[in-house]
Order: sequence, then C-alpha cells, then structure tokens
Amino acid sequence: MKDVIVVGAGPSGSYSSYILSRKGFDVANLEEHKEVGRPVECTGLVSKRVIDMVHTKSPVNSVHGAEVFFPDGESVHVRKNEKTIVMDRDQFDKDVSAMAISAGTDLRINSRVISVKVRPDHVEVRFRQDGNLKEEKARAVIGADGINSNVRKDVFGAVPRRIVSCYQVDSAVRLEDQDSVQVFVGSKVSRGFFAWATPSGDMTKIGLGNVGGGAKKYFDSFNRRFPDNRILGINGGAIPIAYLKKTYADRTLLVGDAAGIVKPLSGGGIYTGMVSGSHAARALESALENDDLSERKLSAYQKGWKSELGRELWIDGLVQRFFAMLGDRSFNSMYRFLSRPEIIDVINKTGDIDFPSRVVLTLMARNPWMFLSAFRHSR
Ligand SMILES: Cc1cc2nc3c(=O)[nH]c(=O)nc-3n(C[C@H](O)[C@H](O)[C@H](O)COP(=O)(O)OP(=O)(O)OC[C@H]3O[C@@H](n4cnc5c(N)ncnc54)[C@H](O)[C@@H]3O)c2cc1C
Repeated sequence: MKDVIVVGAGPSGSYSSYILSRKGFDVANLEEHKEVGRPVECTGLVSKRVIDMVHTKSPVNSVHGAEVFFPDGESVHVRKNEKTIVMDRDQFDKDVSAMAISAGTDLRINSRVISVKVRPDHVEVRFRQDGNLKEEKARAVIGADGINSNVRKDVFGAVPRRIVSCYQVDSAVRLEDQDSVQVFVGSKVSRGFFAWATPSGDMTKIGLGNVGGGAKKYFDSFNRRFPDNRILGINGGAIPIAYLKKTYADRTLLVGDAAGIVKPLSGGGIYTGMVSGSHAARALESALENDDLSERKLSAYQKGWKSELGRELWIDGLVQRFFAMLGDRSFNSMYRFLSRPEIIDVINKTGDIDFPSRVVLTLMARNPWMFLSAFRHSR
C-alpha cells in the first residue's frame, strides 16, 4: 500500500509529491494525460517566488510593467523594479514533475482516476491506465486534479462556486513593448474580468476571461484590436476563483484548482497551488507519522494554507466581486484616479502579483474618499 496517492501532475500535485517523496514517503502520482504539461491552458505569468521554488529553465521573457487600457481608450502605465516572469508552462510542469521523480515519486502517466473511496483504514483509488482498469490502495489521497476534480466530486460532493471561463490564443504577433503586459477592462472586452496581451518575443498570448461562460464571443470582438494577429494555437480553460469552505476530509486533502485556491483578482493559481501543495505535504507528514489521518488531524492543512493565503484570497475575492459590478463609466473615472503621478507611485512601490490586495488597501488607506469616488458610477 502506498503512503499517498496524488491525483494530477499539474504544479500543485507535482510539488506536493516532491515534498512528500523528499521526506521519504512512498508516493504515486497519477496523471490522466499521456504527457505532463500538455495541453497548456495558461498564460505563464508568475512571480520570481514561483521560479525560486523549482529548478527550471522555463522562463522565456520577463516584464516589469503593465499598461492598463480603459473603455474610453485611455491607458495607465505602471512599472515595478521586481520582474514578473513569462514562462513556458509546459516546460515548467515537466520540471516540477521531474523534481518529484528524482525525489522518489512514482509518476504514472495516461492514468485517469475514475473513483476514490475512503475506507476506515485506507483509500481505494480506481483508475484507467493505458485503457486497463486498475485499483490501488493508499493511506491518504491528495486531489490535485484541477477544476473538474474527481476527488472533490467523490469525497466532498462540492462544485466550484465562482468560475471564470477563458479564451486565449498563441499569436504570431510581436508587441512593440516587450517589457509590459497589456491589460484591458470594460464591458466590450469582458464580463466581470479582463483581457490581456502578454509578450514573449515574436509570440504573444492574447486572451480574456469572463465570469460565467461565453468568452469566445467576447474574444472575437476583442481580437479586432490586433489586426496582424496570426493565430498559432487556441487554448482556453476555466479558473475557479473562490476556494471551498472545506479542503480536508478523512484521509483526503484538496489542493490548487481542485480546491479553488486561486487569486480571484488575476486568476493566477500556480503560486497559490504550490503553496497549498506544500501545506498539504506538511500536514500529511505529521498525520502519517502519528498514524492519525482523521479529518480532525488533517484540519491542520486548512489552517496552514489559510494562515499564508487566506486573508489575501478573501480580500481579493471581495475586490473582484466589486470590480465585476463596475460599468464603463466607473472604469473611466477610475482612470482619472489611477493616472495621478502620486497614485502611480504607490502602485509601483506596493504592487505584487501574488499579493494584489496590498496595493488596493494602501490606496484606500491613503485616499479613501478619492478611491471611493472613482467608483461612483458602478452599475
Ligand atoms: C487561460 C488561462 C491562463 C492562466 N494564466 C495563468 C498565469 O499566467 N499565471 C498563473 O499563476 N495561473 C494562470 N492560470 C491558472 C493556472 O493555470 C492554474 O491555477 C494552475 O494550473 C493550477 O494548478 P493545479 O496543479 O492545481 O491544476 P492543473 O494545472 O489543472 O493540474 C491538474 C492536473 O490533473 C490532471 N487530472 C485531472 N483530472 C484527472 C484525473 N481524473 N485523473 C488523473 N489526472 C487528472 C490534469 O490532466 C492536470 O495535469 C491560467 C488559467 C487559464 C485557464
């Protein structure tokens, strides 16, 4: 019997497998696809924190700024000293998985988990490997199987509460400014989220997210802004932007997208997924050593990830829901607020893609009335 079966070899699953294997536990990591890292459904924008967690050659570009475009065509440019990395997500996932394998993880590709049953003294995981039905027992299971998690369905019976559907293309168009991500807000480009163009040399990732569905329709109209756009590939996907109330159960933990542990404002989930994966590994280490895999013991996992990310995700969630209510007139008045040099200075100094609430709270604390008046035209 394995100590832990980790379902899914995305960044959250591979990173928790890596930490547990390094501690000497017997870990199997089951991945439904024939290749780790494929298909890619990601823009690949991460902070240096993420790159520092992994031995990886995945960075392809780095940016220091963002140009935010408002509905009336005006834009604000912000810039940080710290760089944000644009990485090749396929390569990154393979690098995290390779780290786990070197530490001892038994990775099995082409292995789709179809059911998980929690018994009093073990878990039973049924999966189809290369088309053959198999069953494996373990002392515990980690559900790192993304937004459509089977582990979540079988053990928690829960569904993601708030979803952003995305449509993105890899485009053979070169942005003039290779040092800035372009961000677009307003009712023409997205319902409740935003659109983006992320440079990496002669290739640019152009996409948008929509709360609910219908991203393709918005994309078709947004894409007209890039008349030279030659599409190399289409990739999309959905992002859960509200975490589950409970992410632990007897012998079971949920990490990353499976648990909705994602930054609601940006939809970034690689950093938060890996942080949740490391807390899952830590909680399981103690539970396995004490042979106590009860829900009570594993509640330490949720305390752990919430102590590091809970406040941020909660505030981001509030701000995201607030932004989703804004109409174009509000965004345009927000431009007038954000374009002031002293405000841009605050954003440049406090901006952090992993902790975006810092900049929002700093702006509110310094200029509460001005900040609120920027939103007076909400729908
Ligand atoms: C268009 C788009 C752009 C994004 N851009 C960014 C970005 O720039 N920066 C950022 O930080 N985040 C971004 N994200 C979010 C990010 O991709 C996710 O938050 C991240 O991948 C979560 O990692 P994970 O390991 O939890 O889940 P996933 O990466 O989804 O990994 C889950 C794994 O489980 C496997 N799996 C699923 N079901 C089963 C099963 N039954 N049996 C076995 N294996 C299974 C899947 O094949 C997959 O490999 C973006 C998302 C989208 C859709």
